[in-house]
Amino acid sequence: MVDRNPKEGGMDITTKSINQDAAIGAHRSKMHQHDLLVVGGGLTGLRAAMQAYDAGLDVVVISKVNPLRSHSVAAQGGMNASLGNVKGEDITDDSWEMHAYDTVKGSDYLADQDAVELMCREAPRSVVELEHLGTVWSRLKNGKIAQRPFGGAGFPRTCYAEDRTGHNALHTLFEQVVARRIPVYEEFFVTSLVTNQGMCVGLTALDIKTGDIHGFSSKATLMATGGFGRIFSRSTNALINTADGQALAMDAGVPLKDMEFVQFHPTTLYGTNILMSEGARGEGGILVNKEGERFMKRYAPNSLDLAPRDVVARSIEQEILEGRAYDEGYVHLDLTRLGSHIIKEKLPGIRQIAIDFAGVDPIEKPVPIQPGQHYSMGGIDVDKDGSTILNGLYAAGECSCISVHGANRLGEILYLKQWCLEGLLQIK
Ligand SMILES: Cc1cc2nc3c(=O)[nH]c(=O)nc-3n(C[C@H](O)[C@H](O)[C@H](O)COP(=O)(O)OP(=O)(O)OC[C@H]3O[C@@H](n4cnc5c(N)ncnc54)[C@H](O)[C@@H]3O)c2cc1C
Repeated sequence: MVDRNPKEGGMDITTKSINQDAAIGAHRSKMHQHDLLVVGGGLTGLRAAMQAYDAGLDVVVISKVNPLRSHSVAAQGGMNASLGNVKGEDITDDSWEMHAYDTVKGSDYLADQDAVELMCREAPRSVVELEHLGTVWSRLKNGKIAQRPFGGAGFPRTCYAEDRTGHNALHTLFEQVVARRIPVYEEFFVTSLVTNQGMCVGLTALDIKTGDIHGFSSKATLMATGGFGRIFSRSTNALINTADGQALAMDAGVPLKDMEFVQFHPTTLYGTNILMSEGARGEGGILVNKEGERFMKRYAPNSLDLAPRDVVARSIEQEILEGRAYDEGYVHLDLTRLGSHIIKEKLPGIRQIAIDFAGVDPIEKPVPIQPGQHYSMGGIDVDKDGSTILNGLYAAGECSCISVHGANRLGEILYLKQWCLEGLLQIK
C-alpha cells in the first residue's frame, strides 16, 4: 500500500498532525513509497527535505529521534561566511577567496580545493537564506548580522545567534518543514539500505515505538545521519551520534573517506566534555595552565588562543603531558576578563552549562577544560553533487565526506555542505 502524498491532502499545519500522519500511515501499512527518503532530521536533512519539496518531489524525513532532538540543536558558535560585516585587523574587507584560503590552509592543504571554493562562494547566501527563513542572528549596532573571530580565520567571519546558533537554525528549518507538511517518520530507526541491480531502491526501518519493521521504496535516498563522535569516550557529541549512516552505507558497498581525520575540540568541559564554544575565545577568553601562564604564546605566538583547533588541542595535551596542567588533566579557560556584560550578552549558554555541569560561574572563576572528540571530518564518500558510487544513494552533512575539511575542519561550517544536492533533485 502506498502512503497518501500529504501535499494533496488537507492536513492541519501542526507538528502533531504531521507526525501523526506519518504514524497513522505507518500503522496503515508497513510498506511505503516516496520519491525521496531523507534519513536524518538535523539541519542537513531538514534543509534537503525543504529544497526537494520545493522542487516538486514527494519527500519524507525519517529520523530515529524527533528532529528537534537531532545533534544539530547543540551547535553553539555559528557559521562562517565572508559577509564582510566586520573589518579585519588591517581594515581590509573579507572575501570568499580569503575564506577559501583559510579553509585550505587550516585543512593542512588536504582539502578538495574545488569543493572548498564552492562552499566559500555559497556561504554568504546560506546565511542570508537562513535569515530570510526566520533565523534570528545576533546583530551589530548598525543592524547588520554580527560576526566574530574564530580559530584559523583571518577575519571576524563567524555569524552567530548568541551561543545557540544550532538551536536557532534547527527550529527555523523545522518550522519550514512543518509549514510544507513534509511527513516526518520520527522514532524510526533505519536498519538497512535495500539495493537491487546496483541501485539503492529504498530501506528498512524499525518503528521504535511498536517494534514493527517497515519497508520504504524510493527513487533516491539521502543519508543525513550526522557524525560518529560517540565512538570516542570523550566527545562533545550527542549520545545518538553513533555512525549509523556510515555503517549502513558501508554495508551497501559504499566506501568511506578520510576516516583518519577526526577533530578534537580544545575546550570541552572537564568531566562531561560538553562543548565550551570557540566563541568564548573569539570574544577574548584565554587559556592558562596551572602556573598561570598563557601557554599558547609558546605554541602559536601570532594567533595565540585562536590558532586552528588541532593546534590548540595538541598544545593543551602537551601541557598535560609535561605536568603543567591541573592534576586531573585539565587547564583553565579564563573568561573572567570579558566582564559580566559580554558573557551574559554573547555567551549565555556557555555560562549556564559551566554553572550547571561544573559548578563554576565563568564571570567569577576560570572554567576547567580538556580536549575532546568533536567533529567527524571523514564519512560517506560523495562527489560535489552529494552522489555516492551507488546509484540512487546520496549523502550530505556531517555523515558525508566531500573532503572540504581535509585533515582539520576550521570551526563553524554548519549548514554549508548542503549546496550539493543538485543531482538529487533531477530524480523526478
Ligand atoms: C557541541 C557541538 C557544537 C557545535 N557547534 C557548531 C557550530 O557552532 N557551527 C558549526 O558549523 N558546527 C558546529 N558543530 C557541528 C555541527 O553541529 C554538526 O556538524 C551538524 O549539526 C551536523 O548536522 P547533520 O544534519 O549532518 O546531522 P545531525 O544534526 O547529527 O542529525 C543526524 C540525524 O540523523 C538521524 N539518524 C541517525 N542515524 C539514524 C538511523 N539509523 N535511523 C534514522 N535516523 C537516524 C538522527 O535522528 C538525526 O535526526 C557542533 C558540534 C557539536 C558536537
